[in-house]
Amino acid sequence: MLDLTPKEVMARTALRINPCKTCQPVGALFCALGVRKCMPHSHGSQGCVSYHRTVLSRHFKEPAIAASSSFTEGASVFGGRSNLTTAVKNIFDMYNPDIIAVHTTCLSETIGDDLNSYIADLKIPEGKKVVHCNTPSYAGSHIMGFSNMMTGFMSYLTKKTGASNGKTAIFPGWANPGDIRQLKKICSLMNVPIIMFPDHTGVMDAPMTGKYEFYPEGGTTIPEIASLGDCKGVVALGEIASLAPAEMMKKKWEVPFVMLPQPIGVSFTDQFVMALRLVSKTEVPWELEEQRGQLVDLMIDAHQWVYGKKVAIFGDPDTVEGLTSLALEMGLVPKYVITGTPKEEFTKKINRLFSKYSVTDCKAKANSDLFELHQWIKNEPVDLLIGTTYGKQIAKAEDIPFVRAGFPVLDRYGGPLMPIFGYEGGIRMAEKIIGALMDREDRDCADEDLEIVM
Ligand code: SF4
Repeated sequence: MLDLTPKEVMARTALRINPCKTCQPVGALFCALGVRKCMPHSHGSQGCVSYHRTVLSRHFKEPAIAASSSFTEGASVFGGRSNLTTAVKNIFDMYNPDIIAVHTTCLSETIGDDLNSYIADLKIPEGKKVVHCNTPSYAGSHIMGFSNMMTGFMSYLTKKTGASNGKTAIFPGWANPGDIRQLKKICSLMNVPIIMFPDHTGVMDAPMTGKYEFYPEGGTTIPEIASLGDCKGVVALGEIASLAPAEMMKKKWEVPFVMLPQPIGVSFTDQFVMALRLVSKTEVPWELEEQRGQLVDLMIDAHQWVYGKKVAIFGDPDTVEGLTSLALEMGLVPKYVITGTPKEEFTKKINRLFSKYSVTDCKAKANSDLFELHQWIKNEPVDLLIGTTYGKQIAKAEDIPFVRAGFPVLDRYGGPLMPIFGYEGGIRMAEKIIGALMDREDRDCADEDLEIVM
């Protein structure tokens, strides 16, 4: 299908082809779904929110509820104040959420709607809340929208009473519910009481009970967000998504934070566990040591099938950083590492990983796209591709083994339930990577070389 992609790479500055990202409101909507009894609200036209809901529903295979200011020509010319006022009244009357989280869109940003003043003038029912953030989609990516919505919640809701709640805030960054469950499990094993924000467990992985719950019993509660200012500290995971919210906690409430990569692979999970150890001042329990040892054992056992194989990794910056670290730990050569999010910090981090593992002749690039990645692969092929569903055409066109990871994975089931975080998530990802490479070996080898015992 993509065989018409030319091999010759031409410099492009103003055009992205097959972008490796989506728009800011997708991230804002996703963040808001991780808050209990929250109705995300898109301040723009209905077409935008239809797309945003669709991409989230297709990844998680769960409903992604959201309302819209339903801009038409009038609001586009005269502003969306009356649309928002009517929408907020209707949402509280009809759907009774505890909180409405409003984000903007390209249209409302372009006409300059002032959400601060609109929301200040709203008649909000007693005990209910309305918060907002700005998510202009012509800047950043869905990861920035996620980050902006976190700071939006925090700027409206957090307080400091002066009495510590004894908890540590965990900012997971953009993560599947399976990963958030893994973080909670590790914190529980390390005996660290936490507030997870946002928390998509119980919402985007809700079980089939036979009864539809409009607001499932998951998500960070409003009192939990309010008490973030009373936390002992913040462990922020994934710099591109979580640094700005962590810095806000420090600046606003003097809550200290530690900034770590998302715990994917051995060394990044070690960093998370050691940060928790400093909080709990307890020994790392055997269960975690055992998992770590199993992951290392798996990597050593399969080393002969993996070592020196070239891999291209693409997707969201924080996830890709973790996957690159895992790949290097396994002995893979991360030949191409890209994200569509325009953050140069990403390139620096990946280059630091290349230096740490002494790999050369590898490329890292932020603000890139899948067309460019495909061209690089045409010029110098790789043995494996790791990334979202959108890499499927490249994998097919170039006949490359493909491991799905990150957001979105639209064409498979069950991924959001399973972790890539923690040692257990590392075991899962390593098993997928090793399996993909060995399947290819089995497919291509001569009949007499088809091994049964490895
Ligand atoms: S118009 Fe803007 S906000 Fe709406 S879907 Fe497109 S990029 Fe996203």
